[in-house]
Order: sequence, then C-alpha cells, then structure tokens
Amino acid sequence: MEGFVFSLILLVVIGILAYYRASLTLFTAAIAVTLAAGTFVGPVGLVSWIVFLLIALPLNIAFIRQRLITQPLLGVYRKIMPEMSSTEKEAIDAGTTWWEADLFRGNPDWQKLHNFPIPRLSAEEQAFLDGPVEELLDMVDDWEITHDRADLSPEVYQYLKDKGFFAMIIKKKYGGLEFSAYAQSCVLQKLTSKSMVLSSIVGVPNSLGPGELLQHYGTDEQKNHYLPRLAKGLDVPCFALTSPEAGSDAGSIPDFGIVCKGQWQGKEVLGMRLTWNKRYITLAPIATVLGLAFKLQDPDKLLGDKEDLGITCALIPADTPGVKIGRRHFPLNVPFQNGPTQGNDVFVPLDYIIGGAKMAGQGWRMLVECLSVGRAITLPSNSTAGIKAAAMSTGAYARIRRQFKIPIGKMEGVEEAMARIGGSAYMACASTTMSVGSIDLGEKPSVISAITKYHITERMRLAMIDAMDVHGGKGICMGPNNYLARGYQGAPVAITVEGANILTRNMIIYGQGAIRCHPYVLAELQAAYNEDNRAAVTAFDKALFGHIGFAISNFFRTFWLSFTGAAFSSAPYSDATAKYYKQMNRFSAALALMSDVAMGTLGGDLKRRERISARLGDILSMLYLTSSVLKRFQDEGRQPQDLPLVQWACEDNLAKAQLALDELFDNFPNRLVGVVLKRVVFPWGRTLRRPSDKVEHQVARIMQTPCEARSRLGHHLYLAGKDNNPIGMVEQALRDVLAAEPLFDKVTEAAKKRLPFFRLNEVADLGLELKVISEQEAQILRKAEASRLRTINVDDFDFNYLAADKALLASEQQSAAKVNAA
Ligand SMILES: Cc1cc2nc3c(=O)[nH]c(=O)nc-3n(C[C@H](O)[C@H](O)[C@H](O)COP(=O)(O)OP(=O)(O)OC[C@H]3O[C@@H](n4cnc5c(N)ncnc54)[C@H](O)[C@@H]3O)c2cc1C
Repeated sequence: MEGFVFSLILLVVIGILAYYRASLTLFTAAIAVTLAAGTFVGPVGLVSWIVFLLIALPLNIAFIRQRLITQPLLGVYRKIMPEMSSTEKEAIDAGTTWWEADLFRGNPDWQKLHNFPIPRLSAEEQAFLDGPVEELLDMVDDWEITHDRADLSPEVYQYLKDKGFFAMIIKKKYGGLEFSAYAQSCVLQKLTSKSMVLSSIVGVPNSLGPGELLQHYGTDEQKNHYLPRLAKGLDVPCFALTSPEAGSDAGSIPDFGIVCKGQWQGKEVLGMRLTWNKRYITLAPIATVLGLAFKLQDPDKLLGDKEDLGITCALIPADTPGVKIGRRHFPLNVPFQNGPTQGNDVFVPLDYIIGGAKMAGQGWRMLVECLSVGRAITLPSNSTAGIKAAAMSTGAYARIRRQFKIPIGKMEGVEEAMARIGGSAYMACASTTMSVGSIDLGEKPSVISAITKYHITERMRLAMIDAMDVHGGKGICMGPNNYLARGYQGAPVAITVEGANILTRNMIIYGQGAIRCHPYVLAELQAAYNEDNRAAVTAFDKALFGHIGFAISNFFRTFWLSFTGAAFSSAPYSDATAKYYKQMNRFSAALALMSDVAMGTLGGDLKRRERISARLGDILSMLYLTSSVLKRFQDEGRQPQDLPLVQWACEDNLAKAQLALDELFDNFPNRLVGVVLKRVVFPWGRTLRRPSDKVEHQVARIMQTPCEARSRLGHHLYLAGKDNNPIGMVEQALRDVLAAEPLFDKVTEAAKKRLPFFRLNEVADLGLELKVISEQEAQILRKAEASRLRTINVDDFDFNYLAADKALLASEQQSAAKVNAA
C-alpha cells in the first residue's frame, strides 16, 4: 500500500513538473528529492535508486547522452525523415511565424495576444478612405461594370491611376502611397462593398506582382524606372505564373528560358530566349508590363557552372516583339480583366530578370515570400467585406420583408441562416484585422495567410449561399438593384486563386504550420541535413531532448486540461469569455500532443495523409480565428452589446475544433493510438456545443436593429444611401421602415383594424383622416412605403435587353418578320 501511494505521489510530481515544462535538471532534482523522501519514509529502496541513476545519469551528461542515444537516433531519423524538393524547402523557409506558433505550442500566453498593438489608420489613410475612395465609389455603377461594359469605364481607370489606387504598396520616394497593410485592407473592403470587379482590379497590383517583387528584390535601376511609372499608372502590371499544365503545382511550370547571346537594340548582349504559355492572368489583357515566371536553363554555362538555374522572375514590357497578350477569360460573370499570354522564343536581355542576373533561379523563394504577405491582405479583405455586406443587407432585408404578416427575420428558421452570416462577419473582420496587423508589425505570415485565405473565403462562400436563401427571389433576379448576385456568382474565384482551397487546407496550413510553428521540428530537420556530423549530433541532441520534454509536457497538460474540462486553467478575464480562453488552452495542448503523435507515428507519410494533416490544420485554424475574435472584443473595449457575436463565433469555432479532433482520432491510421488518445482527450465525450438557438436569435436581432453593435459589423463598408448604391439604399430603407412602424401602430390602433404592413401611403391618409398623425408623420409613412417597395421589388427588362448578341437577334427578328409578311 505504501508503495502504491508513493508511486502515485511520484506520478503527480512528474505531472506537475511536466505541466509547467520544467527543465531536465529541475526534473532530475525534483525526482531525486521525492525519492529521498520516499527512502526516509520507507517505500523507496536501493533498486529504485539504481533505476533512477541508470536513467538520470546518461540523460544529464551530454557526452554520454549524445554517444548512446542521440547518435543512433539521428541515424534512424535520417532514414525516415520526409523527402523535400528544393521548392518545398524554400516554401518552408520563406516567411515568419507569429501568434499561431504560440497556439501550436500548447501553452498560449493570452497577455501576449492582448498586448499586440491595435491596427490604426493614419490621418492620411483615413482621409484617403473618406475622400478618393468615396468619390470613386460614387463614380461606379456595378451593373454597368458587370453587365453593360464587362469592364471599368475609361474614366474610372484614369481616376484609379491619378489617385494612386494601384500604388498603395509603393514607397513614397517612388511616388506611391506607402499605406499600411491595415489601410490597404480597409480600402479593399470599402471597394468590395460596392463592386467586386473594382476591388479585384485594385487588389492585384497591390498584392503579389511586379510592384511588390521590385521593391523587395529589384535592382536600383529597375526600381527607379518602374516604380514611379507603376505609381503614376503609366505602367499596368500583371504577374504570370500559372500555365495550363501547372496550376496548384506551380513549381512544375513548363515555361522556360535559355541563356544565350543575341541582338538587342543593335548590339550583341547576354540574354535569354523565353517560351511561355500562361493562363488565368489577372490584368494581363490590359497590362503594359508582364511579370513572368519561368525555368531558366544555361546549357552553355554562360552564367556559371549550373545548367538548370531554376524558377526565375523577369519583367517583360508587353510591347516586346513576340509577346502575345490581350485576349480575355470570363471569370464567372465578375468580369475583371483576366486572360492568357504566350511567347515563343522571345529574346530579352538578362537585366530583365527582377534583381538582375544574380537573382536567376531565385524566383520561387521570391514568390513564396511575397505571397505570404499578399495572400493575407487581398482575398481575406475582399471576402471579409463580402460577408459583412451580406450581414448588413440580409439583416436589413429580413427586417423589411414580411411574410405571414411578420418580418421574415423574426422566423426561427431564418434566424439560423442569419446568425451564420452575422457571426462569420464579426469573426472574419477580427481575423483579417489581426492578420494584416501582423504584417504591419514586420511579419511575413506564411501560415496565418494560408489560414485566413482558406477560412475567410470559405465563410464568404457560405455567407453568400445563406444570404441568397434568405433573400429568395430578390437575390436571384439580377439587375442594377441586385446587391447580392455578383458576390454569389463570383465566390468560387476567391476559393480558387492564390492557392486553391482544397490544397490550402490539406497541404499548406498544417504542412507549413507543423514545421514552421513547432519549436523543435525545423531544428531537427536542419540538423539532419547538416553534413558536418559532429555539429549535426550536437544540434540534433538539443532539438531532440527539447522535443521529448515538450511532448511529455503536452501529454500531461492535455490529460489534466481534458480531465478537468480546463476549469482550473488560466484566462485573462473572468467574464463570459473566460470559458473560451480555457477551452483554447485545452485544444492548444491537444494539438501540440497530436502533432507529435502524428509526426512520430506517420513520419514522412504525414505529407501524403492529407486528411490527417487537414484536421490538424483545422484545429490550429480554429484556435487562431477564435483568438482573433477575443482580441477584437478586447480591442473594441469589451462592448456588452457585441457578446452574442463573440459567443457565436467562439462556440462555432470551438465546436469545429472539437469535431476535427474527434474525427482525427476516429481516422487515425494507428487504431490503438487513436482509441487510447481519444480517451485521454475526450474523457467525458464531446462536451462542447454549437451556439444555442438563444445566441443565434440575439445575433439575428443585432443584424436587424440599428445599434452600435450593428454599425461595428458594417464598419469599413460603403453604405451611403445613394441611388446607384443598392446596398446603401437597403440600409436607408431599414431606417425608413423602422421610423414608420410606431406610426403604423398608432393608426391601426385608432382605426381599430388589423391592417397589413403595406400600402403605407394609404395608412398615412387614414391616419390624417382620423387625425392621429401629423402631415410630417404621414410623410414618414409615405417615404417608408417607397423604400419598402424599392427593397422588395426586382428589376425587369425590355424583351431584347438581355441578349448579348444584339445583331444576331435583330437578323432573326427580320427573318421572322419576312416569313410573317410572306
Ligand atoms: C480568376 C483567376 C485569376 C487568377 N489570377 C492569376 C494571376 O494573376 N497570376 C497567376 O499566375 N495565376 C493566377 N490564377 C491561377 C490560380 O492561382 C490557379 O488557378 C490556382 O493555382 C489553381 O490552379 P488550377 O485552377 O489549374 O487548379 P488545379 O491545380 O487543377 O487544381 C484542381 C483541384 O485540385 C486540388 N488540388 C491540387 N493539388 C492538390 C493537392 N496536392 N492536394 C489537395 N488538393 C489538390 C485543388 O485544390 C483544386 O481543388 C488565377 C486563376 C483564376 C481562376
């Protein structure tokens, strides 16, 4: 019995030390003290001390440890470690990790999260949003862009160039605006709320493209030539990577260049002959300068002793002889400029390579580094605005539209769809703000950009579907007054570009996250690749034993946090949000544990087990998104009105994290490990629940009722109630209808009749007749009726208006007329 009690005490001591991540020395000392106490009391004898010394001495004496343990393990590790192509290595090396690494490591420091500065606009950036951005939005008519022209008007293009919209990332010394990532995000959000075509055309030159690449890698000559021209809009850039044969697998592009001598402007120079066939290239049809990615070969070794130099990026003026450009693709009725380009044996000098000849073969690294920044800004911002616009318009419409004599937004079934939109809008804005904020802190967040790109575009697609369902026929019938259909149609574009979503979820988020965020895996890999064996053993030893301690700690943390439901773990606040921090402590520890288990049991195979990787990535993503929600709540002053939105987002995310973990255990390739660990992580089953009906009702209420929480939801959108801004007109209609409701009640009460809430102009007349309302109040009712009708009505057109080929139609009509006449 004494022995059993002592074993239990020893286990508790080990557990506490592991939970608090004690060092090996402290571990050894604490166990020695416990054993000494055991010897003093009785149950610990000589055998226990011998076992202890046999384990503790080799572990604590570096020389013995490295010889007996590390060296053989390094040999085994080298045999099973995942093989990596040079493009994969470069992708992993590119970019930085930030807060997501803390979440990955099992023990997040919440104070650190809340201490990250709140992104803010400078006075100049705010003035740009209030001035040129609004002026531009007043100029554009989305129906004209998407239906009549399939393009922006020449005046709008000119305005974009004149005001520097294409130069938000370009430094001031070259004539650009040099805006923060946060300001770029706000501009893009505001543009998206009126026109996706507009925000796509503005987003691309400010994202991954010649401007970004030149600023980071260009020679002084290239910067001085191109950047001022790009800033003034004298050059329009595009960037061409994708080929028909190489989409997601962009590293395998077949496009190539051969280093050779040739004639250039009357002189013989060292250059390259380029052959390419690219497609899907945004802005290509109107580009004057083409950023081109190709594989450079040097068969005659004119640049050095390497024949295959690898992926290289160059800037090719579009008027270079042999460049074919100008045709258009037609992406899902959201006709931003996008098209193919080809070139066959086009000779250009070597100094067209971005960064000059010394950057030959460095293209892949350049691209992945820049992508980690651009991917966190453009698509998340545009998609966030899409969700927010859906939340505002659906909220307003659901309050105005009545069926069965009540606003449809009061029906429980509709509330469910609305809550998904509203909660996602709050969360998307929170995570986009936090992610762009990290860029302004100097990060190049490759994992975060993949998380936000994937999850925000997916939420946007769902929000569009939900919004469409709530709007019914109003959403389906297209025309100048439809503010929803283009977003619904265009949603798959965001899903596909900058890393198609299935690939991003299954390979990129966790694939990069596991290696980048893990405190030891990258160091182990680097040590294993080191050809100097002594240095390799020393580095591997440090990483390996750190890793073992980390894994033991995560096991005990997971066990304790799961067993107690994380009730005793730390949270920075003791209010309604405390439970979310605590659950995140638990899931963070479980993620760290399962990462090591997955890597340890699957080794290099984990790369191919995409669904395991995807679920681990889902857990990391849900932790990141939830922490961004809690940060937003804190940064905005913990507004009690916003709590339902916070609750919805946190509970929805945490339930998704729980599901991902559960499915991970159920599908874990090693069944024994899956079953045992499921018991450790879910000792009481799946205890977390999705948001309740009550919370969803509260979210739907916020969306339908003008209040501060609702205004925060629509922050950064363009909601001016102007004729060519349909989403702003619905907002206006909401205000008009709400103003009329008490007057309507007054009249129906006086008339002692239950009138339907329409023909409000007749209600106004009745009110005047009964002398219960003033003429001014009657006007409010008439205005509400006009707004109500404008909101629920849809566009219709002349019979021939919708035919794109008017000439065909006219000739057919003429033939029919002739037949009739005959
Ligand atoms: C409108 C538009 C604009 C674009 N703009 C540009 C641009 O300006 N410049 C440029 O260079 N490119 C651009 N692209 C290309 C875009 O980035 C690619 O479309 C994208 O990389 C996907 O390639 P793909 O369409 O050929 O799909 P594929 O690569 O054929 O993929 C098909 C499906 O397979 C999935 N998949 C592929 N590999 C894996 C994997 N290993 N694991 C799991 N799933 C996988 C993908 O997720 C996808 O669902 C644009 C594309 C579009 C449609």
